[in-house]
Amino acid sequence: MEKWIYTFGGGVAEGSAGMEDLLGSKGANLAEMSTIGLPVPPGFTITTDVCGYYHSHGSNFPDTLDGAVREGLSQLENARGSRFGDPENPLLVSVRSGSAASMPGMMDTVLNLGLNDAVVEGLARKSGDRRFAYDCYRRFINMYGEVVLDVDGFLFEEAADEIKEDHGADFDRDLTADAFAIMTVRFKEIVESESGKRFPEDPLEQLWGAIGGVIRSWNNQRAVIYRSLHDIADTTGTAVTVQAMVFGNLGHESVTGVAFTRNPSTGVKEPYGEYLPNAQGEDVVAGLRTPLPLVESPMHGAAEALSAHAPGLFDKLQSLCDRLERHYGDVQDIEFTAELGELFLLQTRSAKRTVEAGLKIAVDMEREGLISRRAAVMRVNPDDLDSLLYPSVDPSTGAEPVARGLPASPGAASGIVVFDPDDAISRSRDGAHVILVRKETSPNDVHGMHAAVGIVTARGGLTSHAAVVARGMGRPCICGASTVRIDAANTLFTVGDITIRDGDEITLDGTGGGIYLGRIPTIEPQLPDDLTTLVSWADEIRKLDVRANVETMEDARAAHAFGADGIGLVSTEHTFFAPSRIMTVRELTLARDEKERRPSLDRLFPLQRADFTKLFRELRGFPVAVRLLDPPLDEVLPESDADYQKTAEALGLPVEAVRKRVAAVRQIVPVLGHRGCRLAISYPEITDMQVRAMFVAASDVLQEFGDTVTLEITVPLVVGKREFDFVRIIVDRVAAEVEQETGCTISYRVGTLIELPRAALRAGEIAKSADFFSFGTDDLTRTVFGMSRDDADAFLTTYMNNSVVDLDPFVTLDIEGVGELVRIATERGRTENPELLIGICGEHGGDAKTVRFCHSIGLDYVSCAPNRLPVARIAAAQATIMGDENT
Ligand code: PEP
Ligand code: MG
Repeated sequence: MEKWIYTFGGGVAEGSAGMEDLLGSKGANLAEMSTIGLPVPPGFTITTDVCGYYHSHGSNFPDTLDGAVREGLSQLENARGSRFGDPENPLLVSVRSGSAASMPGMMDTVLNLGLNDAVVEGLARKSGDRRFAYDCYRRFINMYGEVVLDVDGFLFEEAADEIKEDHGADFDRDLTADAFAIMTVRFKEIVESESGKRFPEDPLEQLWGAIGGVIRSWNNQRAVIYRSLHDIADTTGTAVTVQAMVFGNLGHESVTGVAFTRNPSTGVKEPYGEYLPNAQGEDVVAGLRTPLPLVESPMHGAAEALSAHAPGLFDKLQSLCDRLERHYGDVQDIEFTAELGELFLLQTRSAKRTVEAGLKIAVDMEREGLISRRAAVMRVNPDDLDSLLYPSVDPSTGAEPVARGLPASPGAASGIVVFDPDDAISRSRDGAHVILVRKETSPNDVHGMHAAVGIVTARGGLTSHAAVVARGMGRPCICGASTVRIDAANTLFTVGDITIRDGDEITLDGTGGGIYLGRIPTIEPQLPDDLTTLVSWADEIRKLDVRANVETMEDARAAHAFGADGIGLVSTEHTFFAPSRIMTVRELTLARDEKERRPSLDRLFPLQRADFTKLFRELRGFPVAVRLLDPPLDEVLPESDADYQKTAEALGLPVEAVRKRVAAVRQIVPVLGHRGCRLAISYPEITDMQVRAMFVAASDVLQEFGDTVTLEITVPLVVGKREFDFVRIIVDRVAAEVEQETGCTISYRVGTLIELPRAALRAGEIAKSADFFSFGTDDLTRTVFGMSRDDADAFLTTYMNNSVVDLDPFVTLDIEGVGELVRIATERGRTENPELLIGICGEHGGDAKTVRFCHSIGLDYVSCAPNRLPVARIAAAQATIMGDENT
């Protein structure tokens, strides 16, 4: 026969912690507390299986449940020495909800069950307190009416207010026993008129009604919404705990309250919590009375604190808190009640806490010897760290945003408003910090986005072009700010009746989504010391190397300072787009043959050499993977008439001739066009120039410092071995030539981005001549899905809202599809070349779930934006720990 109930109390229990799925967190922890000898009122927990049965059997209970509940009840009666429904010596119970996942306040509970007109008089006699007995009775009818009989709680409130008015009382505490008795009569009338049924007098009928009501509350609207917001499965169900009542409302020596074992907002180890004398649990949460603190606080005098009101009780509570924290190895959130000075614990669970508190608690508990280093690292949720890694608007200014949009890319920035990407470039060149404000962005705006310190769009969602590109660049961004009305022709935008013009200063908070007028002070991210400590512990544990992707010298410095294990991707092209170089690159792009290309290459060589020298100085001693020119050259072509004019002058050609050459170069689908290694093969002289600049720079640094980088040259957008070999021959030749000239031997590797499906499938062959693979999961995702992140916003948000996809595949690697190709390429590559170094350098490298996947398939490293390094390092350590646990 299936076991439907698990009893607990009196130092023993049938259940234990770890049985949350079956008993709910409340039931499992009550059992655990009972077993370790803590004062828990006895009771029994009806399993979550009953909830499942009830909902799949037309709201019926399993046949054998009745006997089990009777048995549980009689054990309870024996434990308490009183009888359920017996007016001479009554036992009252609470019927409480509780699922495996914490859903605070979302489901229902009924207290003081077992009272009727006869029993209430018995309770009055037994307790010697008639007012108390009727207080319990009116609470019971109210809760039962709401939870079980669906009566609108407002009707009870209204009736209670009338009775208070009749008795000249402001608060419940001013009411007499008779007034409460009147209330019970009035409440029952309400139940009868609203539900069409008499209030049940039979305690057993009440009990079954309450069990059903609590089970049904699993599917009440707020619980369903809470589950969908917190990714909790709808199928697990609630358990129901039936427990002997202990009374916090039995006079002033009785109290009820909530205690945390540490302060959940700061993490400090100090008494933290609230209580109310002469009250029941729901009074603390309902907000009708202001709870008092456990210890003296600025709001309340010392005398009101529990430590003064009941010092013995306070000390006992503190020692139980310590015990529970040591037992569970985590901060606990505890419900307690003292009946006539005797303390009982009604619930314990892991406390919810702020991110900062969580870090502090993990570090402190390790230092106190309560948890291991590994456990401390596992306590961090890498996804929660965002708010600590980027600048934020200083909350102490009290500034209010004028408009809000979607927090598309975290961080805060102030700057002057510009509406045009070219403007963004020219003003930033003049030293201004600019914020680019657009209806939406397109690939043509990317250079302007790069020049801006922040981006705002009036349209688009979290997967819009602006959002994706801004996240990739590490620029704060707000999308879909729908109250922002842009009037580009007049270079202004309005929000309501406020007008903001080109050149006006605004501040945006990409973490929270607020747009502010003027310059609001921002605070730079300060990695909390506790996070630094946890990351250093993670470094001791993790097997994956964590490298950084860099574009600029600032990135390189940040990567170095944050402790990257190397650089997984240097994107060289942004240096080509710098305003001072763009004409030279245009000249290169529009040249008709090698001879015409030569002068521009000669001008670019010293610039690239200088860039690389600076970079390699900063990063000497580390492996640095530099990618050869990748983007479609279209991106540098002139757009406006003025631009054509300037280009024509620079090239010494008529405008018409420039237009013709541009038309010849322009592509229809640039991202799938003439880019990556296709450029390296069409224009080997460009490759020669870039590789030469790298080797000369590495040699310069070697001569200067006696140490340099391990150079890794990454060939982008390869689809097969022959393409790769073509480029590798150039690299090896140039390396030999530079060595000949300088006498310096630079250790280097030549490898490829695996970012097209064909490359992943032909990985075995490519690995025969490649030294490393780096998965370019941005392009790989784009090409595996046949979906461009630039256009995906139009449908991806709808897909996510309709659960057609769960996660944005441009943020978290699609393990089933793209991940499968990564796995295949890794296996095939390693089979052919066991020495092959393998990493990932797409944007996914900074996503915790992706990092875990990369660990699980045995990659050597992940590479991510510098400010994601702490996230990736913690995630890599967690992957190691979880992997070890599974073996
Ligand atoms: C990639 O495709 O994942 C990659 C690293 O290159 P990019 O994102 O610069 O195209
Ligand atoms: Mg790519």
